[in-house]
Amino acid sequence: MTDCIFCKIIAGEIPSTNVYKDEQVTAFRDINPAAPTHILIVPNKHIDSSNFLIADDEALIGHLFTVAKDLAKQEGIAESGYRLMMNTNAEGGQTVFHIHLHLLGGRQMKGFG
Ligand code: AMP
Repeated sequence: MTDCIFCKIIAGEIPSTNVYKDEQVTAFRDINPAAPTHILIVPNKHIDSSNFLIADDEALIGHLFTVAKDLAKQEGIAESGYRLMMNTNAEGGQTVFHIHLHLLGGRQMKGFG
């Protein structure tokens, strides 16, 4: 997608602080962190949101979680705890329409919404 900011990050066309990359996903630090650790794990393939997932994406979405778990360990928050979160559409709080998993940690998480 030519006008997608995360596609541009994945392609290396705009700067990001990458912490992991493989054939399926790219992970980089959130530009406006909501916690001491705030990493976005993003499929390299463009998918607008969870509303557009198909059965063929199941392994890819599972991989997002495996990478998130490894990054939590790398960040030293695996034992203290962390939150994995995916927002969908306006009321879900989604602002970038390229599906992504938030990894948040390094402070006490509270509540929802
Ligand atoms: P969401 O609101 O769930 O769609 O999350 C989008 C996230 O992307 C927000 O936490 C933003 O701070 C983050 N974000 C937006 N632009 C960039 C960027 N250029 N580099 C890193 N993170 C970004």
